[in-house]
Amino acid sequence: MKICMIGTGYVGLVSGVCFSDLGNDVICVDNDIIKINNLKKGIIPIYEPGLEELVIKNYKNGRLKFSQNLKESINKSDIIFICVGTPTKKNSNAADLSQIFNVARKIRSSINKYKIIITKSTVPVTTGDKIEKILSLKKSKKLFSVVSNPEFLREGEAIRDFSYPDRVVIGTNDKKSNKVLKNLYSPLISKGAKYINTSRRAAELIKYASNAFLATKITFINEIANLCEKTNVNVEDISIGMGLDKRIGGRFLRAGPAYGGSCFPKDTRAITNTADRFKINLSLIKSVIKSNQNRTLLLLSRVSEILKGKIKNKKITFLGVTFKANTDDMRDSSSLTMIPSLLKKGAKIRYYDPTGEKKEFNRLNNLTFSNNIKAALINADLVIIHTEWNDFKSINFKKIVNKKNFIIYDMRNIYSASKMKKDRIKYFGVGR
Ligand code: NAD
Repeated sequence: MKICMIGTGYVGLVSGVCFSDLGNDVICVDNDIIKINNLKKGIIPIYEPGLEELVIKNYKNGRLKFSQNLKESINKSDIIFICVGTPTKKNSNAADLSQIFNVARKIRSSINKYKIIITKSTVPVTTGDKIEKILSLKKSKKLFSVVSNPEFLREGEAIRDFSYPDRVVIGTNDKKSNKVLKNLYSPLISKGAKYINTSRRAAELIKYASNAFLATKITFINEIANLCEKTNVNVEDISIGMGLDKRIGGRFLRAGPAYGGSCFPKDTRAITNTADRFKINLSLIKSVIKSNQNRTLLLLSRVSEILKGKIKNKKITFLGVTFKANTDDMRDSSSLTMIPSLLKKGAKIRYYDPTGEKKEFNRLNNLTFSNNIKAALINADLVIIHTEWNDFKSINFKKIVNKKNFIIYDMRNIYSASKMKKDRIKYFGVGR
């Protein structure tokens, strides 16, 4: 099939590459010229395990192309996926759909024959209706179908998630597009993915409801972890004990910092905003958002407690600053709040992240990036393990930190508390 992916970010690039790997002809389009030129040279704009090899392989065999020419790419394709960003609107909880509608208008001026136009971006329920309206302004309805096909991949596991999804959701009442898309996804369906055909609005809402539910699950265990800390209970026992119940399931039940990333924070806000517009109060999700915001403040006050209120001039090392491991994505990472707040209180901070230095911290004083774990740790008073990279799982802290009485605050519980005690290291975890 001939596919055009509009927006070559985390979702568009990964899905585009994977579709080409399944034997389709794919053109990935972006209006970021530098990104497109780099991709043509084999330079990948994001950190995603396994992506580089797959891009190079499919680019070389000619099934994957990169372009900034939207009109030409649309003309050459039968299936158009919209994968542009839907961030939070400034001073509002609503999703900013300007990139989506901008693309819809560009598609309108480009289509010459029948195309299936699919939103893979996460968009509020009824957005497909609005895209259809934009397209219908100048084009006959016979020239297009607007379908919703939300994407559920996770950064860091994106290729595996795309290739072995639990389900493929196709939102359309149009039999013709449903048939084409079922065919497109047939290699994944034959590997066990469930294929669900719903109304377009239902598909749009399935995505938000899923993300809101997962965010709730994380927030739930984070709150239980607070109770565990006060009652001398290990939250990991709770996670295992609860997770073994098939009705609950163990995933997304690990206590840690506030959830972050490019999806949960913005999507929980957007769904409550959408519901408000329909005069429905999603009070549970609103509480989750609030609890998650408080979580960062709570962990910060824990840092203060651990340092007995003496943060000034303390050397603090952050291991990992992205919102989770195996990604370079800094969007809504809790480190973006924690680091400036600790700096304000006089801490001197070093950080190491396997995905390199972060531009988000460029202008902060008393913050330095170390380009290896050793350099980051030496002489630290407090080590904060902020993300759960494998690189951080077997560090000989005593040898590297080389200082008496240093403290570890393991926000991901990746070390054994009893082993730390045996090694006489002052160690704090989360919910235990
Ligand atoms: P991103 O910001 O990484 O990528 C979006 C890309 O679209 C950028 O490269 C941008 O330059 C490009 N773009 C914007 N306007 C354009 C235009 N007019 N023409 C061509 N290109 C244009 O975003 P992302 O993380 O890939 O997310 C995209 C969508 O997918 C969002 O709605 C997001 O919620 C959803 N989603 C993201 C993930 C994830 O893990 N990141 C997972 C599932 C769903």
